[in-house]
Amino acid sequence: MEQNKFYVLPKLSYDYKDLAPHMSEEQLTIHHSKHHQAYVNGANAILQKLDKARKENADIDVKSTLKDLSWNIGGHLLHSLFWGNLAPPSKGGGKPAGVLGDALAKEFGSFERFQKEFSQAAASVEGSGWGALSYCRQTNRPIIMQIEKHNTNVYPMFRILMVIDVFEHAYYIDYKNNRGKFIEAFWNIVNWNAVNNRLEELLKH
Ligand code: MN
Repeated sequence: MEQNKFYVLPKLSYDYKDLAPHMSEEQLTIHHSKHHQAYVNGANAILQKLDKARKENADIDVKSTLKDLSWNIGGHLLHSLFWGNLAPPSKGGGKPAGVLGDALAKEFGSFERFQKEFSQAAASVEGSGWGALSYCRQTNRPIIMQIEKHNTNVYPMFRILMVIDVFEHAYYIDYKNNRGKFIEAFWNIVNWNAVNNRLEELLKH
């Protein structure tokens, strides 16, 4: 397999045990090494299938293949964002500073109001999906999105600054079916520096 033409499971910048007690070692291990890995493998298998069909000039079911590809690449990209906006509780949580802190305060009135709206968005995603904080360059507003599965309800071109995975596989070991408890715990392990860096990078361009 040519490495640079396929997806690779990203390494985490912390150990599997480091997000406890908010996300247990068992939960994070399975989520990263099984669930995220499955999206990487799934996307690569479809790319290989496309390579083969193109080489042989063979017909494929384009609609279902592209749907599968989107499911897997979407899963890979969203999980990669998710791991990057988490940090051990000793370094995470609290409130954002910098341009992000200013942007949230300006848009929502207060950090607490943002936190409440984001939690409600994540809690009310129908079925499996994600809560996401995004940013619109046309209006310079941070915008909360609900992502159904991996790709519905997304504003095209909006850069995502922060996500929370609310698929049940993200929390069932630690919180059973209680998504709300997981969302509450999430705030203790948000890496605000990373989220702020994403916004700063975005604003440079
Ligand atoms: Mn997940």
